[in-house]
Amino acid sequence: MSTLPGSPFFHYQDGQLFVESVPLHSLAQAYGTPLFVYSKAALGSALDAYLAGVQGRQVSIHYAVKANSNLAILRYFAQRGCGFDIVSGGELLRALAAGADAARIVFSGVGKTQDEMRLALQKGVGCFNVESLAELHTLNAVAQSLGVQAPVSLRVNPDVDAQTHPYISTGLKSNKFGIAHDQALAAYRLAASLPGIAVKGIDCHIGSQITTGAPYLDALDRLLDLVTAVEAEGIALSHIDCGGGLGIQYQDEQPPRAGDLWAQILTRADARGFGQRHFMAEPGRSLVGNAGVCVTEVLYLKPGEERHFCIVDAAMNDLPRPALYEAYHAIAPLSQTPAAGVQGQVYDVVGPVCESGDWLGRERHLHVRQGDWLAVCSAGAYCMSMASNYNSRPRAAEVLVDGERHELIRARETFADLVQAEAGQGSFSTNQ
Ligand SMILES: *Cc1c(COP(=O)(O)O)cnc(C)c1O
Repeated sequence: MSTLPGSPFFHYQDGQLFVESVPLHSLAQAYGTPLFVYSKAALGSALDAYLAGVQGRQVSIHYAVKANSNLAILRYFAQRGCGFDIVSGGELLRALAAGADAARIVFSGVGKTQDEMRLALQKGVGCFNVESLAELHTLNAVAQSLGVQAPVSLRVNPDVDAQTHPYISTGLKSNKFGIAHDQALAAYRLAASLPGIAVKGIDCHIGSQITTGAPYLDALDRLLDLVTAVEAEGIALSHIDCGGGLGIQYQDEQPPRAGDLWAQILTRADARGFGQRHFMAEPGRSLVGNAGVCVTEVLYLKPGEERHFCIVDAAMNDLPRPALYEAYHAIAPLSQTPAAGVQGQVYDVVGPVCESGDWLGRERHLHVRQGDWLAVCSAGAYCMSMASNYNSRPRAAEVLVDGERHELIRARETFADLVQAEAGQGSFSTNQ
């Protein structure tokens, strides 16, 4: 293995794992572990892959903030001209703090609160992706109370199977997401009749870690059928949002390249006479997933009768995907030359958290000893952004590498950070 799965920007040179021009061990030494390390070139290359497929077309890229919401990462995508897909008021404020143009933010999510709606209207977000009739009525009322119209697209559930993990599949009838396809036309009629709503577009997002193009084309066909039906009623739709969800290589998956997928989508749109429309994409994982690793130190090796354990200093609170979805992350040594006398062994790689679900990798063949460093691969998406303080573990530090330069983009949390909101001094109050 000379590069890590899915990213040439993490590569071995003379047996040492590098990110771009920086040996990872030097970062582990300088910043401590567990440590998330991201490659700016990898972020750029992932975005370029999208842009290659949409050249000369009206396609806007809205980075899905929840995949990795570090301000430095958001700033990079904002500078590159991306819009953003957000799912909370917190993500809205993050995107704005990173320099996002509010007009190019789309606000998704099934449970927007009235406070979040007000904030988003005041900041001037480009579009609300509305997921239910109840939400539509509430948004209408909030917009009217502010004397404005809320720009809206309806998130339609196209009922296609994205063939991914059930927890990250969102386009089936049985999911909580979106408005059922057969109710969408009625929902558009309602939206068009509400004074606080301005209908702008149509939206879908069918799942995540999708590794074939077919579900996208099925969803597009279903969406375009609806566009035709909605516009036949005199309700114009100025954009078509195809959501995110493109998968990455964690192990041996072979997802289509972003540019190829978009070329297919646009070819299908052309064939149906919609090629000149404004399309939108909301990629998260495929922009950041393979742009990051988590460096962790081996704390202990614990041989057992049935299994051998490699206990590391990163855990499910840092890397929740294995515990949540039994997800696979490759685990690679920082040094390919094991110390003299170290035998190869099959280990379960686990963290220090007091849960049996706290594992990062099962049955991995490693040559390691106490104090060695490992990289948990493909850790740029849905890792740090899902991290918690469970077991009162401070969240890890994050570093961004650009060529031979590196910058701390999030300091490691301290005990003071963990307890700063817990001011309770025993002075109870009553409601009288
Ligand atoms: C999570 C999410 C995305 C991004 O999904 P990825 O699989 O990370 O590309 C896009 N749109 C919506 C509405 C989402 O909820």
